[in-house]
Amino acid sequence: MNNNLTNKKVYDVLIVGSGVAGMYGSLQFDSSTSVLMLAKYETNVSNSNLAQGGVAAVLDLENDSYDLHINDTMIAGGQENDIEAVDTLVHEGPSDVLNIMNNMGVEFDRKPDGSLDKTLEGGHSRRRIVHYKDSTGAELVRKLLAEVQKHDNIELSANTALYSLSRVKSGFRADIIKNGRLSSVFCSYCILCTGGIGRIYKYTTNPKTATGDGIRIAYELGAKIKDLSYIQFHPTAFNSDDGEQFLISESVRGEGAVLKNCYKERFMHRYDQRLELAPRDVVSKSIILESRRTGSNNFYLDITHEDADFLKWRFPGIYEGCLKYGVDMTKDLIPIFPCQHYLMGGIETDIDAKTTVPRLYAAGECANTGVHGHNRLASNSLLEALVFSRRAAQDIKRCMAANFPAVSEYPSPVENITGGAPVPKGIKTEIRSILQRGYFVLPDYGAVRSGLKQIDNILKRLKGGSFAITTEFSEVLSMATAAHIILSEVDEK
Ligand SMILES: Cc1cc2nc3c(=O)[nH]c(=O)nc-3n(C[C@H](O)[C@H](O)[C@H](O)COP(=O)(O)OP(=O)(O)OC[C@H]3O[C@@H](n4cnc5c(N)ncnc54)[C@H](O)[C@@H]3O)c2cc1C
Repeated sequence: MNNNLTNKKVYDVLIVGSGVAGMYGSLQFDSSTSVLMLAKYETNVSNSNLAQGGVAAVLDLENDSYDLHINDTMIAGGQENDIEAVDTLVHEGPSDVLNIMNNMGVEFDRKPDGSLDKTLEGGHSRRRIVHYKDSTGAELVRKLLAEVQKHDNIELSANTALYSLSRVKSGFRADIIKNGRLSSVFCSYCILCTGGIGRIYKYTTNPKTATGDGIRIAYELGAKIKDLSYIQFHPTAFNSDDGEQFLISESVRGEGAVLKNCYKERFMHRYDQRLELAPRDVVSKSIILESRRTGSNNFYLDITHEDADFLKWRFPGIYEGCLKYGVDMTKDLIPIFPCQHYLMGGIETDIDAKTTVPRLYAAGECANTGVHGHNRLASNSLLEALVFSRRAAQDIKRCMAANFPAVSEYPSPVENITGGAPVPKGIKTEIRSILQRGYFVLPDYGAVRSGLKQIDNILKRLKGGSFAITTEFSEVLSMATAAHIILSEVDEK
């Protein structure tokens, strides 16, 4: 494996993204297939690397069943899920989980008797979530990356951003930004694994990679984008002044934490009789309604009534995370606010991860396979990334085996374009404010309409100006495009 782009410009497969979907997909190809995999920043900056809870899979048919997992997934998704995709996810997922464990060295926590320590999360009727401490994603990323590094056919290029794709005969031209320069490579097939859109919001758990680049690039190529407004908002993220959000897990409420408003008063009784233990979307909505009632975004979780030693033992990561911001959860109220967490919608695909554009595939969070319906069941997304990136690779291998022609046209490669104005400062903040006002947990239809006009103006400015093509420019364009699609969808509902 070579970490730098070489002079070679033609690949069988381009994989955009080095999260779980990108890496697992790349590992399905044998040594005869050349794969270029891009990571916009360092290889381990991704949603995958932050995943905490685990991976849901039916690994114990004595105490669990595929039908139960399917049913749980459909209930969480409001029965809007694509049943064929759910069926594929649930039936095939377990062998992918066993594959990463047995063949790629991924470890999951075990009980003293050596069996897998499966946990339960909201919406699951059985204990089926395998996990590695509270950092499952980082374990997967570490081990998959080690595997990728063993494969000479995979060239992984970090700090390299895909800017655009265009169709050429039997493949694509991909325009790529690296070291401030734009250049082109060509590929016969492309799998977009670019993750979510969290960074179009002010409040999100997602890292800086999540600006919706793959969705914008697929959209520009004419691919169908579906249900981009299906966004999951988590009710309790730590509300820090620096805007970085980390999750305060639902299990803190499970252990008795109560929610308080700016007056330090409980309020959930106004919205749902299940109080703090109502489902994720209900609690998030209640917080927003209460913030409109009080005119304040100050909310708290209070678990100070619990024994301090128990809290430190039960929530070591959260305890330490809060302490970094000067909050001792055993004595202080924890400032929280809902945040964008996950994208259910995305680039429409079939169960082979094929988009509506020939030879273009999408897998992981940027894709809409239909498995999640309008609400994702906890811990189903890492599973989705594994199953559908593998299926994308398998489909490509079938095409290659059937002698589909390889890319054979190399028109006007872009080289070393520099110059142009930098993106005006503040556009990202402006887009985030528009989304935050118009569609954060609950739509505000007036703000959606005025926001759409603002976004249209931003897009006109970006497309009409002569800006330097940088990663920053690419991200702003992606954020504005995603915001436009989301707000248009909400407006039409
Ligand atoms: C805090 C947190 C906790 C979570 N916990 C869980 C959990 O317990 N269980 C679960 O199932 N799910 C969980 N999720 C969701 C899950 O982590 C993600 O849905 C999943 O990891 C997405 O994987 P991915 O490979 O599709 O995208 P990502 O892991 O986000 O990877 C995206 C990749 O695309 C690259 N990229 C983006 N744009 C470009 C571009 N223009 N050019 C080149 N590269 C680009 C990025 O650099 C990155 O490498 C959690 C998410 C978060 C944020």
